[in-house]
Amino acid sequence: MSGDPEERIYTVVKANVIKHPLSNDEVFPVEFSMAAFSLKRGVIESYTAIIEPLPLPSGSAYNARVLKDDTDLPLPGVESDLFSESSQDYGTIAANVKRMIFMHLPTSTGRLTKKVVFCMTSDFPAAAGTFRWLGANCNDSTLGKFLVDIEILDLSRLFYRLSLFVNSRNPSFSNGMTQFHLVAVGEKQLNRPNAWSFRNEITCPFHCKAGSNKMDMCAKNWVLRRIFTILKEFVDVLGLKGSTGHNVETYPSANFAPKIEFLRTKSVINENKLEFTKTGFSTTPTEQCHLRFICTSFLTAVFPSPH
Ligand SMILES: [Zn+2]
Repeated sequence: MSGDPEERIYTVVKANVIKHPLSNDEVFPVEFSMAAFSLKRGVIESYTAIIEPLPLPSGSAYNARVLKDDTDLPLPGVESDLFSESSQDYGTIAANVKRMIFMHLPTSTGRLTKKVVFCMTSDFPAAAGTFRWLGANCNDSTLGKFLVDIEILDLSRLFYRLSLFVNSRNPSFSNGMTQFHLVAVGEKQLNRPNAWSFRNEITCPFHCKAGSNKMDMCAKNWVLRRIFTILKEFVDVLGLKGSTGHNVETYPSANFAPKIEFLRTKSVINENKLEFTKTGFSTTPTEQCHLRFICTSFLTAVFPSPH
């Protein structure tokens, strides 16, 4: 991974959750999606899990029904036949989430930075609550700590900073964010409905099923729609057009990493040495300790400097 902002990889997340009937901080994730992209390569990889989060606390029936009405997602514990067997394999889902975040961690001067993901500010509680829930239910304290420590940043602010970077690279490029220096302009653009809301290519298999009129509420659709909105803004002006990962239309034929397999946690992660055999990338415990001390370069690494 390079320090070049065009090559830097960002991970975007979205969770569809059932809210706890009494606690604002506690949620129960039913669909979680994440996708990694760079300006240069477009969408690189995505992962989506449908989760049956059991047991739900008493009094959850109403909030579960609200989620079903909004998203078509099934009712946990009531419509279990609509979930797959892997929907209760929380350890594997948590391991897959960790593996993908770890693989695409940004680097600064060749070292890994803090683990960060991006989402819209209104989705912070659902995303943070999902990491907490997976961390508490994955049955693996090391994995749980990794998930709980994930930092969530504002996708609109990333959009804004990328606009400033692109403007510095090509001064003829200007949008509402570069003109008015308002993150809110980017937020509005990312939340604006667009023509991709009902495209199968960017929707998970569950929401693609015949008859679902809630494809636009699919977490995968949500994530990829916003990534493609960002890419559409910048790829032409940076002269990057041509990669299949840049366009919704060519997304299925893009050269993606193989879909993440449902590997058991123990086979993916050795207790003392994290090894991700797919990339040949590994960190030793010593290197992991270094991660704690490079936070000073964190913002520089995560957000591209406009100059
Ligand atoms: Zn979906």
